[in-house]
Amino acid sequence: MSGGNIILVTGGTGLVGKAIQTLVEKELKRPGETWVFLSSKDGDLTDPAATRAIFERHRPTHVIHLAAMVGGLFRNLRYNCDFLRKNILINDNVLESAHQHDVQKVVSCLSTCIFPDKTSYPIDETMVHNGPPHPSNFGYSHAKRLVDVQNRAYAQQHGRRFTSVIPTNVFGPHDNFNMQDGHVLPGLMHKAYLAKQSGEPFVIWGTGRPLRQFIYSLDLARLMVWALREYTEVDPIILSVDESDEVSIRDAAQMVLDAIGFQGQVVQDDSHADGQYKKTASNAKLRRYLPDFQFTPLRQAVQETVDWFVANYDTARK
Ligand code: NAP
Ligand code: GDP
Repeated sequence: MSGGNIILVTGGTGLVGKAIQTLVEKELKRPGETWVFLSSKDGDLTDPAATRAIFERHRPTHVIHLAAMVGGLFRNLRYNCDFLRKNILINDNVLESAHQHDVQKVVSCLSTCIFPDKTSYPIDETMVHNGPPHPSNFGYSHAKRLVDVQNRAYAQQHGRRFTSVIPTNVFGPHDNFNMQDGHVLPGLMHKAYLAKQSGEPFVIWGTGRPLRQFIYSLDLARLMVWALREYTEVDPIILSVDESDEVSIRDAAQMVLDAIGFQGQVVQDDSHADGQYKKTASNAKLRRYLPDFQFTPLRQAVQETVDWFVANYDTARK
């Protein structure tokens, strides 16, 4: 990539988009580059005409495609049909507009929760389409899997370089801290904040036994900008911490409590679903490209996110 490039980031106001913006403004922007961070207020990407108008207005040379209907386990359980339809529409509109406008490269964002439910571990990039996803989020999963199918189709028929990355559970500043709709770490941070204020018990949903690999949004942002500049395959690449960094929900919750300084009662409410037990992903491919990449230690990243949430409580998404 050289100067003069215009990089359009769809979903630029979300968790991952804000992290990319922070790093670009602080250190990653190259001379002559223009970065455009879109929100839904710039146009509804489920609408083909609105999407075309955005591409017409900005004329990007490169796209990082993040915009999506996103949510934690409990939002997915309620809205599988919306997750399927909205994300199919957004992805098709963005990829087709990128094709029509001769965009040189698109990096889209999949997720490790789209892999088959019944699988061997660790999961790797070759296994995306190997069997049905977990029933809790099949709408989101099938819509995201189609991005990989579309990338291959644009490459085969039109010679396009559209690719995708597959992050594990992301968290960080600017996350969605809504306790019903959001992901587990921001949800638990919000609950811990309120429990500390009120003296009420802190409640962890499910058994606490499921395992997750968490990636800090600022680490993911750095890797996504690397992927945009250096990664030339159409095949996806998993962006994950090491398998040894996988933790239980119970242990992750304890890190949140330590970070916020909560000393009260902790309750496990297993009337709520556990979702997938684990989705342990291999980062061997990433390590072949970037053997020395240093991930922020989970405890430090949790502390930084809790500090951000407490400092920005009034304006944070919740
Ligand atoms: P997020 O915080 O919920 O942000 C979503 C972004 O998409 C926002 O900028 C939102 O705009 C925009 N958006 C949503 N619907 C739109 C529409 N119809 N038209 C235009 N823009 C729309 O999501 P995130 O966590 O940053 O996720 C970014 C990407 O990473 C997604 O593709 C997601 O599937 C993927 N991912 C996330 C996780 C995770 O744990 N969070 C894990 C793996 C993969 P507004 O701000 O204006 O609403
Ligand atoms: P997932 O990783 O795609 O399953 O989605 P989440 O980020 O929502 O994580 C869900 C896991 O965390 C499940 O095992 C839940 O039972 C557990 N969990 C525990 N407490 C909470 C909570 O307050 N919010 C959410 N979203 N999940 C929780």
